[in-house]
Amino acid sequence: MKAFTYTRAETEQEAIAAIVKMPQSVYLGGGTNLIDLMKMAVALPSQLVDINPVPLNTIEEHDGGLRIGAMVRNSDAANHPLVRQHYPILAQAILAGASPQLRNMATMGGNLMQRTRCYYFYDPTYKECNKRTPGSGCAAKDGINRIHAILGASEQCIATHPSDMCVALAALQAVVHVRGQRGERTIPFADFHRLPGNTPQIDTNLQPGELITAIDLPANNFAARSYYLKTRDRNSYAFALVSVAALLDLDSSGKIRDVRMALGGVAHKPWRIPEAERQMAGKNASEDVYRRAAAVLLQGAKPYSGNAFKVELARKSIVRALTKAAA
Ligand code: SF4
Repeated sequence: MKAFTYTRAETEQEAIAAIVKMPQSVYLGGGTNLIDLMKMAVALPSQLVDINPVPLNTIEEHDGGLRIGAMVRNSDAANHPLVRQHYPILAQAILAGASPQLRNMATMGGNLMQRTRCYYFYDPTYKECNKRTPGSGCAAKDGINRIHAILGASEQCIATHPSDMCVALAALQAVVHVRGQRGERTIPFADFHRLPGNTPQIDTNLQPGELITAIDLPANNFAARSYYLKTRDRNSYAFALVSVAALLDLDSSGKIRDVRMALGGVAHKPWRIPEAERQMAGKNASEDVYRRAAAVLLQGAKPYSGNAFKVELARKSIVRALTKAAA
């Protein structure tokens, strides 16, 4: 492991000042992904700025919805009564990820920052990885790519985003609050993560030094009908091959008043196509409507040698998740 310095910040301002003072500094929250990456010599920071003392660990009602501090632990968010009552899909998605020990350490802000689980990215003995070393190539394209993307990939990178929680946040249309040297701003969740394009080494639209401070969940009418479906190789402590966050609001006759859907395990960011949702509005909740929505969500899917099964798996998972949500 490369030597680094350690700075403990008590406030947001102290944390940001420490980060901008030294190049290649990173924030340390729960460290559940970062420390692994450092041990594997994939992340080589010169300074860790520990933000655990920064008071960003409350969950409170805000503007009809909920504001969750960036340092709230994943397990605390999943077990919070307001989350369980108003945003059960967020609790389901968090509890579908990792292990209890990891969820006790991992923070809400850190979950947004976790990096792909592409095998080649984690193993520096493979020299070809544009995400780890820009311009070096992509070993996964012609290698083992069972877990990789079928949507939104580029010639430079076909990795997927690993988070379950972020799939639920995308469907809930969360808003991310960040603070940097120039003050505070908000980022709609759909714009927080990036597709790989020609710069797969950049995962998010955060500016250098910006600190995630909170995540807002807007009010909605989906609490009664939501479902997070995760398909994976084993039943716990495994990343999604495909996951679906499905949220439905039905009227008394079974017509769809409103709907949100997001997919995980298929792209470099949680995958959402608002047009698929628009086409469902006003129709009767039925398998036929769900199938047509799945076709729109998966339009343009491009599998690689080892992951063609994901297209059909995603299609079936979307129909099943919507069916479960409606029930
Ligand atoms: Fe690296 Fe992305 Fe290719 Fe994986 S898919 S080897 S992360 S460039």
